[in-house]
Amino acid sequence: MTIKTTNLGFPRLGRKREWKKAIENYWNQAITKAELDETLLNLQRENLLLQKNHHLDSVPVGDFSLYDHILDTSLLFNIIPERFQGREVDDDLLFDIARGNKEHVASALIKWFNTNYHYIVPEWDNVTPKLGRHIILERFNYAKSLNINAHPVIVGPITFVKLSKGGDQSLEEKVRTLLPLYIEAFEALIQAGAELIQVDEPVLVTDDGEDLEAITREAYEAFAGAEVAQKLIIQTYFERANVKFLSSLPVKGFGLDFVHDRGENLKQIKNGDFDASKTLFAGIIDGRNVWAADVQAKKALIETLATYTDDLYINPSSSLLHVPVSLDDETLDETVRDGLSFATEKLEELDALKRAINEGNHEKLDTLQAQYERFQNQDFKNLTYDFDSVRASRESKFETRKVLQQERLNLPDLPTTTIGSFPQSPEVRKKRADWKNNRISNEEYETFLKAEIGRWIEIQEDIGLDVFVHGEFERNDMVEFFGEKLQGFLVTKFGWVQSYGSRAVKPPIIYGDVKWTAPLTVKETVYAQSLTDKPVKGMLTGPVTILNWSFERVDLPREEVQNQIALAINEEVLALEEAGIKVIQVDEPALREGLPLRKAYHEDYLRKAVHSFKLATSSVADHTQIHTHMCYSQFGQIIHAIHELDADVISIETSRSHGDLIKDFEDINYDLGIGLGVYDIHSPRIPTEDEITIAIQRGLQQIDRSLFWVNPDCGLKTRKEAEVKDALNVLVNSAKKLRQHTTTPTA
Ligand code: ZN
Repeated sequence: MTIKTTNLGFPRLGRKREWKKAIENYWNQAITKAELDETLLNLQRENLLLQKNHHLDSVPVGDFSLYDHILDTSLLFNIIPERFQGREVDDDLLFDIARGNKEHVASALIKWFNTNYHYIVPEWDNVTPKLGRHIILERFNYAKSLNINAHPVIVGPITFVKLSKGGDQSLEEKVRTLLPLYIEAFEALIQAGAELIQVDEPVLVTDDGEDLEAITREAYEAFAGAEVAQKLIIQTYFERANVKFLSSLPVKGFGLDFVHDRGENLKQIKNGDFDASKTLFAGIIDGRNVWAADVQAKKALIETLATYTDDLYINPSSSLLHVPVSLDDETLDETVRDGLSFATEKLEELDALKRAINEGNHEKLDTLQAQYERFQNQDFKNLTYDFDSVRASRESKFETRKVLQQERLNLPDLPTTTIGSFPQSPEVRKKRADWKNNRISNEEYETFLKAEIGRWIEIQEDIGLDVFVHGEFERNDMVEFFGEKLQGFLVTKFGWVQSYGSRAVKPPIIYGDVKWTAPLTVKETVYAQSLTDKPVKGMLTGPVTILNWSFERVDLPREEVQNQIALAINEEVLALEEAGIKVIQVDEPALREGLPLRKAYHEDYLRKAVHSFKLATSSVADHTQIHTHMCYSQFGQIIHAIHELDADVISIETSRSHGDLIKDFEDINYDLGIGLGVYDIHSPRIPTEDEITIAIQRGLQQIDRSLFWVNPDCGLKTRKEAEVKDALNVLVNSAKKLRQHTTTPTA
């Protein structure tokens, strides 16, 4: 048997984020367009050659982009937002659509399925679809000029239209409009020499997949009619596909994810659903996580798959867009490095598998296997936990807690607070960077932090807020901060992945069992509390969010890792309580976005998420007030889970879409404390007293007054100091005017 290797997409960012830097420099007019083009072409070449040097039989092109490949596809078909029409279709137009310009707002960004990548939503209002700028062809030709056997990657018509918005036509009509244009685009690629074209149709693995089958069949039959379908590989990823359905389409083959499918794709193949005459792109190496593969197990899987098809490619389970570029720039302990694999190392794994299978050369495979096994047996992965020893529900019911908390906190009617962070001014960021790079001493840094905390305590006193925060000046990121301090987490230097546009995130890697070893936030919080008689809220990130925004382990059930984190956060909650902190907020902004792609798995996810949050927060005394925060307003089907968290107070974003929220709350009698964000912190605009008053009054129609809190809708770290002061003054004044009785003297 012989197999081939391929890839579905490579990270754009560059090893040291050269891509991001070049693009931002161009935006800031620090470099010319020619300089930008040169840097990006070098980067493309580097990516292509790196893949070629790992002996891929076919290297993807068209995955590279200046911003987002969905936006590239929009430009390819001239699907240009109405407000940007009439301009030349070039990179500047692309950037303007993505970022907005002085005259027009940007197009919306939406999460790419269940990843942390965000794409630009195509807008169909009054568009004139036609074949526009064919950037994929340009890139294909470029690869050809480097003597690289490449295959173009293009988002398929069903996925492209499904992710679009606007226009009067139905989904089917839009797809039909695009079909001749897709055919034209395919023909141009085939004429240029493309032997395979990877057509990404991840939407087929979602709950909508089944409803889309009729139009999918129609589309791919049209491609067969035009005699282009024999070059097409329909690519799916992130979940199981309908193998029987895909087998019935008149294309060369298709791609399946064998890592994130819960075993369902292989099951269908074994069941006889796979048409053996098709080419299979088998996603066997995890394309969205950072772990070294168990290559022996992968080899066995390949051997099984090879009995079902004559034309087998092995590849990562998805584009490598979702993992960092290379381990080479990290300084890592061998014991940890053994277990990791970024994009470049994944190509090595594929190559080692191919050599072992095609040539019987096991050398590299054996080395990788030995590393893998060494890593799995490390002590740091084999601690024991007693999850049952920690409370997972509060001692008393909310009604009881509420009275005890109020006796202790003595809060006024309509209490006011903020979400946690205050401005990360250039000075704050500079001091933190100076300290991290050993340019200033611990002492100097701590003195600075204390001064900043002190200043903001005074500001909060002046404004007259009721529950204070310390301001989070010591944190760069609400997950990385905890990752740096908890045992079991690794924070890398260059482990960046693209989130949207030029923005990248550096998720911590949970490589071992998680343990709390020392207080994480107590010093700053207690210092802040020492400066005021008002309660200062402790500020933590919750287990669900920490897990969702990290690279998670896969050698343990997800639930267990989440609960390990929950126990660690629980220790910190208790440490804060012990130190006299009366209010503790545990943020869970990522709870909703962690929902699995398919609804069938939602309930299980939510049940486990709720349990972890409760493990983290239920051990405190009844008189300690637990807050949580989430920054979205459409709770829909998760509202019951939110209620089950049993947090004494939740603060949520509402200012941008009141209507939806009120609707969600009609379905449930929400009887815990709740702060509906009364103004939008994402805008620099200062709200008026009237606006805030209306927002409060509207909320009071839905929610019992005794449960109601007044707060902004998210943290204030991106705002300027003057904006924060002005807005919070308006907020506090509005609340005070609406107060029916005052239990604390007003300033
Ligand atoms: Zn938020």
